[in-house]
Amino acid sequence: MIIAHTSTHKRILELNRPITSLKGIGPKRAELLLRKGIKTVLDLIFFTPTRYEDRSRVLPIGKTGEGPAVLVRGKVVSGREERFFRRGKGLFRIIIKDETAHLELVWFNYKKVHLSRFIGQGLEIMAYGRVQRDRGRRQMIHPDIKVVNRDKVIEILGFYPVYPQVMGVSGQVIRSAVKQALERYQEILTDEIPRKISRRIGLPELGEAIKCVHFPPEGSSIDLLNQYETPCHKRLIFDRFFRVMLNIAFRRRFRKKRSGIVFSIPKGLLSRLEEYFSFTLTGDQVRVVKEMLKDLSSGRPMNRLLQGDVGCGKTVVAAMAAYISIINKWQVAVMVPTQVLAQQHKEYFSSLSESMGFRPVLLTGALNKSDRLEAYEKIREGAYNLIIGTQALIQEDLAFDRLGLVVIDEQHRFGVRQRALLDRKGTDPHLLVMTATPIPRTLAMTVYADMDISIIKEYPEGHRPAETFLMDESRKREVYNMVRQRMSAGQQALVICPVIEGSEDTDLKNALEMYSGLRKLFAPRFCVGLIHGRLSPHEKDQTMDNFRKGRIDLLVGTTVVEVGVHAPGATVIVIEHPERFGLAQLHQLRGRVGRGRERGLCLLMLKNGISGESLSRLKVLAECNDGFEIAQKDLEIRGQGELMGIKQAGTGELDFAEMFREPELLMTAKKEAEQILDSDPELSRPENRLLRNMVQADFPGVLDF
Ligand code: ADP
Ligand code: MG
Repeated sequence: MIIAHTSTHKRILELNRPITSLKGIGPKRAELLLRKGIKTVLDLIFFTPTRYEDRSRVLPIGKTGEGPAVLVRGKVVSGREERFFRRGKGLFRIIIKDETAHLELVWFNYKKVHLSRFIGQGLEIMAYGRVQRDRGRRQMIHPDIKVVNRDKVIEILGFYPVYPQVMGVSGQVIRSAVKQALERYQEILTDEIPRKISRRIGLPELGEAIKCVHFPPEGSSIDLLNQYETPCHKRLIFDRFFRVMLNIAFRRRFRKKRSGIVFSIPKGLLSRLEEYFSFTLTGDQVRVVKEMLKDLSSGRPMNRLLQGDVGCGKTVVAAMAAYISIINKWQVAVMVPTQVLAQQHKEYFSSLSESMGFRPVLLTGALNKSDRLEAYEKIREGAYNLIIGTQALIQEDLAFDRLGLVVIDEQHRFGVRQRALLDRKGTDPHLLVMTATPIPRTLAMTVYADMDISIIKEYPEGHRPAETFLMDESRKREVYNMVRQRMSAGQQALVICPVIEGSEDTDLKNALEMYSGLRKLFAPRFCVGLIHGRLSPHEKDQTMDNFRKGRIDLLVGTTVVEVGVHAPGATVIVIEHPERFGLAQLHQLRGRVGRGRERGLCLLMLKNGISGESLSRLKVLAECNDGFEIAQKDLEIRGQGELMGIKQAGTGELDFAEMFREPELLMTAKKEAEQILDSDPELSRPENRLLRNMVQADFPGVLDF
């Protein structure tokens, strides 16, 4: 990285200190935080809350009812541990009162020493939690409590940030570490975005923004906070957008100037396509192949994005491009997000006519060292002409003999950064990016401004998208009877939950619980599997592979099953808490079933008390099968399910959900990025030095154009 001036350099060094330099973070906690990718003070500063609790007002106990969590304040009347006679288990009960009423605070899991600090007669306590009624008495189960005047009240009163769960590290520890980090380092945080830009678009400076996102000031709106709609949240989102948009603007400008490999196209190819495939291509497939052939013979590197719903037959198009490259004696690299998908593609290409001349090799993290080196050798010599693999393809020191074409499948897992890195692997290879994430046109033109776009809308004959039904919670039994029926007929099922594990602050269905429940229901007759993001990549691949091959009858999981795996036997998908997902994401998920002969069935489980708004949003899905239309609706309704926190700046990745939520901000970021490059195409002016460093750090190689 080029450093602009020494003061900046010093700042960066300061911020890159390990988090163990903060009080309360020892090696053990550092290790746990590292699993979430938090290593330095800077990482921690950008680890932002997923939601906020309004603890700004104290409610009289007598005014509390059942409902959302509230903050109360009262004097301790009594407090003690109560043991149940036989079971050996106990509970801890503290009773407090204010002028209006009494309240019982109850714990079933607790540390006695800890709670004993709160039982002094007359101690004044603040408690935050949900009030329940137990035989007429008000109760709070497992409240969060503090002693007024002893513990820092500042940590109770106000808008209370809730961070993503880090196993083994409490929210309290994170909050206090973040607080220290900000106190010490907020001043020296470098704001790379020129002040005149943030002023023009009316957003605060970085330091201020980051501080308010962690510790919102008095008078904030809890709703805006929880929607990430405060100016401070927007500023952080803008930063991410801007960085990526700047890169895209670069690529767009410079790719036009580059020359590409000219592929010659065999005469009459289009009329002979049926010889290569066992079916007639759809009109859309033929059109896209034509668009591609034009690129490949144009003398400019192809830079094409192919968008098309799950099952519309994108792979055929990729195979055609690969074929052209190979008969021109150039190698092809196919990059996919998972090993299972890589395996699937290898099988697909191996199944194609021998006359097409593919000599494929699979290159994934699963290879042992000697096999890998041997594969490298053969790739370098040109013995393999089709290299299929995961991100390993760009991360390693892999040299190609003659790389002519790069295909990236399921782009929604890859970002702009990978595109930039891959560019450097060959002498301007042609690039085909495929995605099943439908993005409305206006958005696509922004985030893929550096590419030409092709769209497949037509499905192959006989393809029918999954039928979708909204199911009331009360019909659970019926739903699982349907699942059982399908499994008895030799078909497979998927059950999707929004979270892996339950936590104290959610009552969402979680995958682990679901898994054990469904095992009780279906095992041993049916094999029940579990997949989620916390498994190692190897375990995930293994499980997905077992499912694909029909060895698992029912797979319970989180959205990690989303990516393009083709399990022909899967015909039914049950989705818990569908209101937590974006429509486009749900559409992706249902695309996982019914890819074989049997029509797919998608059942959305509705909890009692789901909001009318969520309901009408979900109805769109039951009524519409067009991915683009659904994505457009997502954009209009802005009800992008679950908010997962703001992604850290400088990852070089766009987050689709974020983009859908803030389309205007994205356009603004694009406009500002273009404007900067218009006036200073190489970012060489002194006032743009910081930007130059930023681009260099985020997207190595982009400035080499
Ligand atoms: P996706 O666009 O989701 O990657 P695939 O390329 O995997 O879709 O195609 C889905 C299925 O449809 C595959 O089994 C493929 O062989 C089949 N298919 C693709 N094109 C056609 C076609 N024109 N006619 C019939 N079947 C097709
Ligand atoms: Mg595919």
